[in-house]
Amino acid sequence: MSTQANVSKVAIVTGASRGIGAAIAKRLAADGIAVVVNYAGRAADAQAVVDSIEAAGGRAATIQADVAVPAQVAALFDQTVTLFGGVDIVVNNAGIMQPGLVSLVDTDDTLFDRLIAINLKGTFNTLRVAAKKLRSGGRIINFSSSVQALALPGYSVYAATKAAVETMTNIFAKELRGRHITVNAVAPGPTATELFLKDKTPEQVEHLAKMPPLERLGQPEDIAAVVSFLASDAAGWVDGQTLRVNGGIV
Ligand code: NAP
Repeated sequence: MSTQANVSKVAIVTGASRGIGAAIAKRLAADGIAVVVNYAGRAADAQAVVDSIEAAGGRAATIQADVAVPAQVAALFDQTVTLFGGVDIVVNNAGIMQPGLVSLVDTDDTLFDRLIAINLKGTFNTLRVAAKKLRSGGRIINFSSSVQALALPGYSVYAATKAAVETMTNIFAKELRGRHITVNAVAPGPTATELFLKDKTPEQVEHLAKMPPLERLGQPEDIAAVVSFLASDAAGWVDGQTLRVNGGIV
C-alpha cells in the first residue's frame, strides 16, 4: 500500500523489535516509507518485524544499536544512509521502565542511571545526530508517557526522564528553525506491551486498564496510528508539541 508521496522517505524507528516500536515500523512501512528496525538485543524479533514488512511488500532492514551509546547511534545513522540513501524520519521509541512500581526512596543508583542513559541520553544521542543528518521536510517523533502528567507513585524517575524528553522536544523544535523539520512527542497511556505488562499483578493491570474513560488498555497500533499521522505531510503544521494518546486517562 505504498503512497507515491512517501516513496523515497526513510525512517529510523528505535526499539522496533517488539511492542509499540514494532507496530510503528509496520505502520510506516505500510505508508510506503523504508524503515530501519533498530533493536538492542533481540535480533530474531527484529528480523521477524522486517520479514513481516517485506511479506506485505514494504522495505525494511534491521540495525542493532544501543541508543545509550553515542558511537552506536552515529553508526545507526551512517548504516541507514548507506542502505537507503538518507534519513527523513526518526522515531525515538526505545525506552525502558522500572520493574513494577519502585518508590523514589527504593530506587538504587543502577536503576536511576539506566533509566537516564536509555530514556533521556538515548533520545539526546539520536537528536544530536538527527540535527546534522535529517533531510529538509524531516520529522522527529519522541516518546514521553502519560504517567508524566498522571504523576503516579512508583514512577518518579521514569516520569522524570519523560518530562525531560518533552522539554527537549519543545526546545529542539525551535532550535531547528529554518530546517523544515518538525519535532513532536507522543505520550502513550498504559499500552499492552511487555514493558507495561511485566512485573504487574493481574489486579494492577485491570486497575490501570479501567482508568481511562474508554476503559481499556491501549494497543501498540493505537499509538502507531498517531505516529503515522505525525510523520505524514498532513502534520506539517504540528511542531514542538506533545500529543497524549491514552484513551483520556489524563
Ligand atoms: P517494550 O515492549 O519493552 O519494547 C522496548 C523496545 O525498546 C524493544 O524493541 C527493545 O529492544 C528496545 N530497547 C530497549 N533498550 C534499548 C536500547 N538501549 N537501545 C535500543 N533499543 C532499546 O516497550 P514499549 O512498551 O513498546 O515502549 C515503547 C516506548 O513507549 C518507550 O519509550 C516507553 O517508555 C513508551 N511508553 C510505553 C507505555 C506502555 O504502557 N507500554 C506507556 C507510555 C510510554 P530489544 O527487543 O532488542 O530489547
